[in-house]
Amino acid sequence: MGIFDNTLKKLEKAKEILKNLEGQKVEEVFEILKSPQRVITVTLPLKRDDGKLEFYKGYRIEHNNFLGPYKGGIRYSLYVDEDEIKTLALLMTLKCALIGLPLGGAKGGVNVDPKSLSEGELERLSREYVRKIYDFIGPEKDIPAPDVGTNSKIMDWMVDEYLKISKKKDIYLLASFTGKSVQNHGLEGREEATGKGGEIILEFLTKKLNFKEPLKIAVQGFGNVGYNVAKFLFEKGHKIVALSDSKGGIYCQDGFDPTLVMKWKEERGSISDYLKENINDSKSKIKITNEEILELEVDVLIPAAIENVINQDNANKIKAKIILEMANNPTTNEAQKILESRKIIVIPDILANSGGVVASYFEMLQNIKNEKWTKGRVFSELKDYLFKAFEEVWYYFEKFNLSLRDSAFTIALKRISQAYQL
Ligand code: GLU
Repeated sequence: MGIFDNTLKKLEKAKEILKNLEGQKVEEVFEILKSPQRVITVTLPLKRDDGKLEFYKGYRIEHNNFLGPYKGGIRYSLYVDEDEIKTLALLMTLKCALIGLPLGGAKGGVNVDPKSLSEGELERLSREYVRKIYDFIGPEKDIPAPDVGTNSKIMDWMVDEYLKISKKKDIYLLASFTGKSVQNHGLEGREEATGKGGEIILEFLTKKLNFKEPLKIAVQGFGNVGYNVAKFLFEKGHKIVALSDSKGGIYCQDGFDPTLVMKWKEERGSISDYLKENINDSKSKIKITNEEILELEVDVLIPAAIENVINQDNANKIKAKIILEMANNPTTNEAQKILESRKIIVIPDILANSGGVVASYFEMLQNIKNEKWTKGRVFSELKDYLFKAFEEVWYYFEKFNLSLRDSAFTIALKRISQAYQL
């Protein structure tokens, strides 16, 4: 079974819960959500710097727009295929609904390793992608953003290409893409917002549970999201005992300062050798693999890289008390069952990593109204949105004895269903 069908299973559970608990008829809307509303597949020709012509496969999948224009990132990775993008688009529909944003869900992607291209090649590919999907994009239609393998520079190229094709000077068209650089009408704090959201949500949960602080935390993945969530939690006084990137991980019982590790990574390319030159006391520090980082004795485990890393092979070996899903879809359905039976609390992706899309929504507002938001305003309004969503999820969790994931999916489905009835 593919990952889309697996995600639908989670949604089917939410449908049954709504039927049983609230007598809501959600059959029809569930049937509709089983298929994306539009699947756009494109072939992107790219002239490499050496003159060779190559072709890359790209997608934009618009899953559902009952609550508002489609919204979701664009991913550049070699794992990109239709099933993955379709799943991530469905998760965007649910994420926006759960948080209460007037937005639907979409996702885009190109099957490419962005690190294998020169900057010029990356720019040409990104502009070509926009030319191919142009007709479907715009502030009232579908608003892309960064995701794994893309960043603000790529969004700047994309919005520039979009404006060139549109031949219009309306500033409101800047809201066609979010996650742009701050110098190019982007939002202060947007880049850190997903990580900030993770920190905020984790704090809400540990307060409810009266957890002893400081927390011992392991973070898998050291891209924008993994780095920022680690940085914010470190600044709060928690101990970041393990970090990893795609090449491997590091553990130190005294904890790391993520900012120093990031500086090292930027200069040297990978974090796995960080220990050798930076921490002298030997016993407490070891190199670990990306599998081992998931099984450490910690309070909180944060998967912040790719899908399905917590699965039936390792769910029984996980020792964390809380899992904060900063990646999209890091836990399989089989693993979720095992974790539930072991009383490990999973904060689901559509809640844990929703800070990014909330900030994207603020960026749209900033562009449309031609305002300039401060980082303080962004983080404070982000907290308000997340507080409301968290409290709702917690209400279902306590009142009906559901997992946090089932609560979140149930609320999202209920909201989409109400919009559909209208
Ligand atoms: N790519 C991010 C996500 O998965 C952000 C999407 C957006 O801002 O539109 O939530």
